[in-house]
Amino acid sequence: MNTVRLLGAVLVVSGFFLTGCQPADESDIEPATAREAVEPVAGVATEPQQTESNPLVVYSSRQPHLVEPLFEEFTAQTGVAIEYINDSEAALIERLAAEAEDTPASVLITVDAGNLWLADERGLLQPLASDFLNERIPEALRDPEGHWFGLSVRARTIMYHPDRVDPADLSTYAQLADPQWEGRLCLRTSRKVYNQSLTAMMIERLGEENVEPIISGWVSNLATEPFSSDTRLIEAIEAGQCDVGLVNTYYLGRLIDEQPDYPVEIFWANQDSTGTHVNISGAGVTTHAPAAAQARQLIEWLASDAAQQKIAGSNFEFPAVEGIPLHPTVEAWGEFEADSMNLKIAGQRQVEAVMLMDRAGWR
Ligand code: FE
Repeated sequence: MNTVRLLGAVLVVSGFFLTGCQPADESDIEPATAREAVEPVAGVATEPQQTESNPLVVYSSRQPHLVEPLFEEFTAQTGVAIEYINDSEAALIERLAAEAEDTPASVLITVDAGNLWLADERGLLQPLASDFLNERIPEALRDPEGHWFGLSVRARTIMYHPDRVDPADLSTYAQLADPQWEGRLCLRTSRKVYNQSLTAMMIERLGEENVEPIISGWVSNLATEPFSSDTRLIEAIEAGQCDVGLVNTYYLGRLIDEQPDYPVEIFWANQDSTGTHVNISGAGVTTHAPAAAQARQLIEWLASDAAQQKIAGSNFEFPAVEGIPLHPTVEAWGEFEADSMNLKIAGQRQVEAVMLMDRAGWR
């Protein structure tokens, strides 16, 4: 049976209890932590105009504590009640496909353009023509056809231990293949879409024949087996198991939040060339959305200044909309140039990336 809880005007049907597996996003966080954060927020106005038997249904793979405050605020401002189902992106995509025109879901929210692209490739997302979104969300961070839009930005870059690495020795992702890093590099598993998207974008930039030696070089330089989580990877750098690694920056933000002097530093990769690889969390309107107008309203609201400020303040990510103040921890990491190539490439070249990573021995 589904577990349904009423949180203000937000109904939660959690896939945790359906599948026994946690959402793949932010899988570094223990489920207990995620559930702890799901306490109802007191004082949120809940006068939904829509009845709770007819809410806007959202399928979301994001951690409940990241989306619930946003949904509650949206409901308070618009009167549109939201019911959301939280599960892994793979489970949600399969569910949408199986439900087809009978789906109750009007919005899909997940992380990584590779996942959004995959949902779109399966015909599960419809175009949304919104001048508001096209104006606010940079072109690289949204589907050119409007099938999905980035709502937060995450950078995947180099991290290092300042006692063991001189940042002057760091430059590009490719340079981590240099023998200088032999036995000093940590990577997360190639099964994680974050690494698949990074590799896919590198293939587009450099060509498969040039990327394969780079990935092989990374594998040769590994200090230990690839990790199942970015957090464990950062902790391995901190502990001296390796000196450098490739990580999404918000994971370091969480560690710094607990320990302000956490001794791992960020290096912005590829600043003299194509810019640091960034990816998104984002949303799209489902193909068979029963409430397409409210779906549009929610996605546009998530791109509003108020929502973007909440997003920037909650997970050490970057807002998708320019000009929104950063979290102080994030701001302290300094400015950097982000790769401006459209993230649709991350999906389009995902299969090539996975095959290349496999050939290179990245497990
Ligand atoms: Fe993550």
